[in-house]
Amino acid sequence: MITSKTSFIALIGNPVSHSLSPIMQNAALQYLGLDLIYIAIPCSNDDLVLVLNSLKKINCKGLNITIPYKKKVFDICSEISPIANQLKAINTLKLNSKKEWSATNTDVEGFIYPLKSLNLTRKKSLVLGSGGAARSVIQGLINLNFSTISVVSRNKTSLDELIKNFADQITIQGLLDNNHGTQNLIEEADLIVNTTPVGMKTATPEKNILPYGDTFWKSLNSKTIVYDLIYNPAPTPLLKLSAKKGCMTIDGLQMLVAQGLKSLSFWTNGLEVPFHIMNDALKKYL
Ligand code: NAP
Repeated sequence: MITSKTSFIALIGNPVSHSLSPIMQNAALQYLGLDLIYIAIPCSNDDLVLVLNSLKKINCKGLNITIPYKKKVFDICSEISPIANQLKAINTLKLNSKKEWSATNTDVEGFIYPLKSLNLTRKKSLVLGSGGAARSVIQGLINLNFSTISVVSRNKTSLDELIKNFADQITIQGLLDNNHGTQNLIEEADLIVNTTPVGMKTATPEKNILPYGDTFWKSLNSKTIVYDLIYNPAPTPLLKLSAKKGCMTIDGLQMLVAQGLKSLSFWTNGLEVPFHIMNDALKKYL
């Protein structure tokens, strides 16, 4: 029950109306029996600093940060974890003892979750896209000891930045999507991860749309695991095609839940919730 003592955790972004975080986080808070609720707050770019500073003054116990502010909130935080610094992206905030924002990023742990039980050491990986989520994915692939990480992107500038960002940890091979060498990478990859939004559910759905078009996928074969970060629709057109070709497929729902579990643990100083509590809430909702 919401009472006059109830505190809250919020998601800040723009837009936030499609987020599934309130569904799974409220299920988890209820399971823990905490007097806390989780809400989504849409926020304009101009108001971001004012909103985050105001939330420090009231009964807000923590925040998730989503598109397009994962980078922008750096200036407002007084403590930033090594992983958020490495990725140059923040997705979770809580107030420290000085009532200042302390920040971290839980996306790497989220990404790794469905891969942990598979033996992928020294395997070959291919990442599609070079935006924010690609950074978490690449750090996850490094942590899982993949032997090679290649990235295909349509954007030379962000591709070069991405490669530079990880140069102290691994040499990443970057190719533009129109390079013929991409076919070889697809054929040889043990794992392909789609971090582009192509295939997401939109207001005007385009049927069977695949990242970089249909011919890009002609070399895909059954030994490859295909992981799409998109969770709505599940499966995406890419995962449907991959399953048809006999590939093992992973959608973005487990990552969403696993990063949410880690954020909740950060806000509550270590409380844990079984994975199925959040996962079941989402499955029931979707
Ligand atoms: P982002 O920073 O905007 O990056 C998107 C990347 O995809 C960029 O490299 C972009 O290239 C590329 N791209 C966009 N449209 C494309 C198209 N039509 N064809 C080819 N490439 C295209 O977004 P993000 O934060 O990385 O998120 C990417 C996706 O991951 C979203 O679908 C998001 O929902 C999903 N995600 C899921 C989870 C989860 O928990 N499951 C977590 C994080 C993200 P340009 O720079 O040229 O536009």
